[in-house]
Amino acid sequence: MRRLLWLFALLLLGFAALLVGRVALLVPAPTTESVVALDVANDPVQARERALRLAGAIRIPTISHQDPSLFDPVAFRELHAYLEQTFPLAHANLERELVAQYSLLYRWPGHDPAQQPYLLMAHLDVVPVIPGTEPNWQHAPFSGEIADGYIWGRGTLDDKFGVTGILDAIEGLLQAGFQPSRDVYLAFGHDEELGGDAGAAAIAGLFEARGIDLAYVLDEGGAIIEGTLPGLDRKVALIGIAEKGFLSLELTTKAAGGHSSMPPPSTAIGVLSRAVSRLEASPFPMNPNHLEMTFAHYLAPYMSFEMQVLAANLWLFGPLLATSDQMNAMLRTTTAVTMFNAGIKENVLPINARAVVNHRIIPGETVASVTARVIEIIDDGSVSVAPLTARDPSGVSDTGSTAFAALARTVRQLNDDVIIAPYLVVGGTDAKHFAGLSQNIYRFSPILAEPDMMTRFHGTNERLAVDEYARVVSFYAQLIRNSDQI
Ligand SMILES: [Zn+2]
Repeated sequence: MRRLLWLFALLLLGFAALLVGRVALLVPAPTTESVVALDVANDPVQARERALRLAGAIRIPTISHQDPSLFDPVAFRELHAYLEQTFPLAHANLERELVAQYSLLYRWPGHDPAQQPYLLMAHLDVVPVIPGTEPNWQHAPFSGEIADGYIWGRGTLDDKFGVTGILDAIEGLLQAGFQPSRDVYLAFGHDEELGGDAGAAAIAGLFEARGIDLAYVLDEGGAIIEGTLPGLDRKVALIGIAEKGFLSLELTTKAAGGHSSMPPPSTAIGVLSRAVSRLEASPFPMNPNHLEMTFAHYLAPYMSFEMQVLAANLWLFGPLLATSDQMNAMLRTTTAVTMFNAGIKENVLPINARAVVNHRIIPGETVASVTARVIEIIDDGSVSVAPLTARDPSGVSDTGSTAFAALARTVRQLNDDVIIAPYLVVGGTDAKHFAGLSQNIYRFSPILAEPDMMTRFHGTNERLAVDEYARVVSFYAQLIRNSDQI
């Protein structure tokens, strides 16, 4: 018995040594050039003027509704006119094209046509406010009020700060007599919240038709976080270098129907429910590669020892992390049953049932491989499976490019003591439409996230601090300057 205990203790010790030993495999943080923080000290008058210009855009309700009949063209035209009035120098110096009627494409000509152009993106549309939640807003969602140090309203975070932030930066650069060396393109889609198939897709089509390759593309995405990762007390700039794929599958069953007094053992609803519960009970396999890239290569050197042990052993601790929905989304292809419709009357057997299951596909898997696995898990020939919307995951962009270095340098010039960490974006952005046009597609919003920012995104009380927005404008101005050197 005692020998057995000893053996057990030895095994335990060996195992602990293995976990700790793997910490040595963590990649040291990439050495980064030293950067002098820019003096963007707050000029409160300038910050307020910038905030007022964003607030004006917030007051124009350019809403993307699921129901296309609710689309309001007047609001989009009003926003176009507002931008033209508010940023007169930019509109005098940049070429502007209307694409798909409501999206905007700008070109700021550079003085050296031999250099490859790049593209800054944002979107004009916002999500609706859920009816009935208006009274919960501290300031009305389309009021664009400035109060308590914040600009309030739908679109302050997603994503009108990008539209006015980029134009405000260019307005300031033009005032200072700056002209870029390479062409700078701006693309502001009008239907990002519906997938961007009309706006961003058409803009990407124009680039393709004109044979323009881009040095890099920057769209919304990750943000700067602070204090949200345990064992790490520095700011982290999460820069998206890939985004998950999207697959909605429609599952249907058909049955003979009839009177519910003489039912078969299972109705169409029972059959489909079984299929759906099998899917929920069989999550996709974990793929820790992407989280490992962020943790082991970029964050671990700055983490507490306990967190380093965890980061070095995601093969073991992955399932523990996956108990958080946020981490789970970074670790695997997710499964969300989002719709279920069946039945018309309490005593009538249903003749069909329909469900929609939305998968977000991790790079490494594809629409085809996910569909095949779903059919295998359901394992029931009477359930048919058909794609509604399908998009493979994006490629993974290069973090060794000069464009990435310019982006990282800009982030560090605007933020003291910040760690740059590339990561996988679990949602979708308009940048996905530009896959064929650049090797370097980055998804980053230059905002320091408030701890509860995620509940405000698409939610109630969306707001952005006045000081933070002033820095956003400075960020884009500095990025444009830095992009001359890539
Ligand atoms: Zn957005």
